[in-house]
Amino acid sequence: MALIVQKYGGTSVGTPERIKAVADRVKRFVDRGDQVVVVVSAMSGETNRLVALSQAVSSNPHPREMDVLLSTGEQVTIALLALALQEQSLDARSYLGSQVKILTDDAHAKARIKAIDGESILSDLNAGKVAVVAGFQGVDVNGNITTLGRGGSDTTAVAVAAALNADECQIYTDVDGVYTTDPRVVDCARRLEQITFEEMLEMASLGSKVLQIRAVEFAGKYQVPLRVLSSFEEGPGTLISIDDNKDMEAPLVSGIAFNRDEARVVVRGVPDTPGVAYKILGPVSDANVEVDVIVQNVAADGTTDLTFTVHRNELDKAQVITEDIAKQLNAREVAVDGSICKVSLVGVGMRSHAGIASQMFKTLADVGINIELITTSEIKISVVIEEKYMELAVRALHTAFGLDDTGVVESSDNG
Ligand code: ADP
Ligand code: ASP
Ligand code: MG
Repeated sequence: MALIVQKYGGTSVGTPERIKAVADRVKRFVDRGDQVVVVVSAMSGETNRLVALSQAVSSNPHPREMDVLLSTGEQVTIALLALALQEQSLDARSYLGSQVKILTDDAHAKARIKAIDGESILSDLNAGKVAVVAGFQGVDVNGNITTLGRGGSDTTAVAVAAALNADECQIYTDVDGVYTTDPRVVDCARRLEQITFEEMLEMASLGSKVLQIRAVEFAGKYQVPLRVLSSFEEGPGTLISIDDNKDMEAPLVSGIAFNRDEARVVVRGVPDTPGVAYKILGPVSDANVEVDVIVQNVAADGTTDLTFTVHRNELDKAQVITEDIAKQLNAREVAVDGSICKVSLVGVGMRSHAGIASQMFKTLADVGINIELITTSEIKISVVIEEKYMELAVRALHTAFGLDDTGVVESSDNG
């Protein structure tokens, strides 16, 4: 008998039939003697629909009310799943975040979980019940409803698993595991049997949305055994492994992540004096604009160029702030580009191997792609390129680093 937390994403609960199929799967585990907590997302498209509704009535919706609105999607699915489970003669009970309770800070739309009271869920499990918990939502100390950021049901599941000391947290989704890259972009992407937390964290941070970043952080921190699986077919999925037990033959590159949401700001001809980077980037971060890649050129003529990237949604804000500072600093110009993307190689194998960067640059050069910015860390190399070349770059790199599915390892058609 095991205590298992299962999370079903939007597509997996997208129709009444799929909700019934989730109930069937949960029943199989219960019949086997497992204790099951189910965390669900809203039906697919529902959260976007609610966002659109808010925009139809407000130009600047208040974050508190947005969370009241967005959390309703999950309220629908916990009730429907509990009903479907009851229809299978299982004793099921639904819980909102505030009922569990999942205590968060008060940062609406991106709240962090501070504590989870697992008592009521545990007593349900011990009484033979299935607990169905709303993903994505919590409550702050003042009783306000909060949400955890898009994709946040993953984090709810991992946090509940940590709080209950579960044997495994299973993330059921519309692909049968974590792939070498998004299988919807590269047909010959390969499912990974396992990936380390460190690699998964980089993949998630660099744009692979199969798991929310915070869920991976949480799982690593609390050592929650985590598995990504398909809700439409049986299979082993991908284990996010706690131990970095990859041997010497670990592939150099485990996966390729990409992100089209970036935009670039270049401030040209800035006087090359101490504190310039701070003077430009300080106000940008004070305005809560997150800066990603930063590059400052070596000065040749007493001036320098400072380049940075931000989320595309925040480009306008970053541009206004930067133009203002550029004037004060007597910089020559500010140029922005909203059609760039970032492509990254990720792999713990890079740590012990040189030459991966040059192989990456050669591969891109061979297909005629110009690299605009480069950043590296111990286990990743990212390049910023023109957005129109993104798929070409990902495919070329996928082949060059031996990641293509050769048919030796079984792959799926991804639901
Ligand atoms: P859910 O609604 O179940 O949370 P998501 O849409 O958030 O599902 O995440 C699953 C999607 O993640 C897949 O459909 C796939 O397109 C995408 N994805 C991106 N990168 C990867 C990857 N490396 N491996 C698997 N899926 C990926
Ligand atoms: N329903 C939320 C979203 O669409 C949370 C989730 O699905 O994980 O972002
Ligand atoms: Mg998701």
